[in-house]
Amino acid sequence: MSATTTPPAYDDNNVFARILRGEIPCRRVYEDEFALAFHDINPQAPVHVLVIPKGRWVSLADFSAGASAREIAGFWRAVGHVARELGIEGPGYRMLSNVGANAGQEVPHFHVHLFGGRRLGRMLP
Ligand code: C5P
Repeated sequence: MSATTTPPAYDDNNVFARILRGEIPCRRVYEDEFALAFHDINPQAPVHVLVIPKGRWVSLADFSAGASAREIAGFWRAVGHVARELGIEGPGYRMLSNVGANAGQEVPHFHVHLFGGRRLGRMLP
């Protein structure tokens, strides 16, 4: 695998960086050393929560390449914990992360969407 791609620079003023610093409010559902989870302001399902890592990562691309094993484990553990706590694990849910322009990523801070609370339609490109 080539390592020639330069990761995009992290913008410290992106909206999720500002939420992490407490400059913008959010409806928080969970927080620990590794992650913050909050309700999406424009929900696409009865349950629509975003889980973001505490570190300065633009997307899954640079998170998976650059974060420590501890950060990665802590983040994904938090994602699973949030889904369980939201009560969407039993009936099922969808997890999605947009990476870059082709996926229409709007906020350049890595985040995972959790959708649940109803039967979800098929989601293919
Ligand atoms: O994955 P993508 O970057 O496209 O999604 C960003 C998400 O962040 C959107 O679903 C948007 O509603 C949400 N958002 C939010 N709170 C903000 C700004 C954006 O929940 N203050």
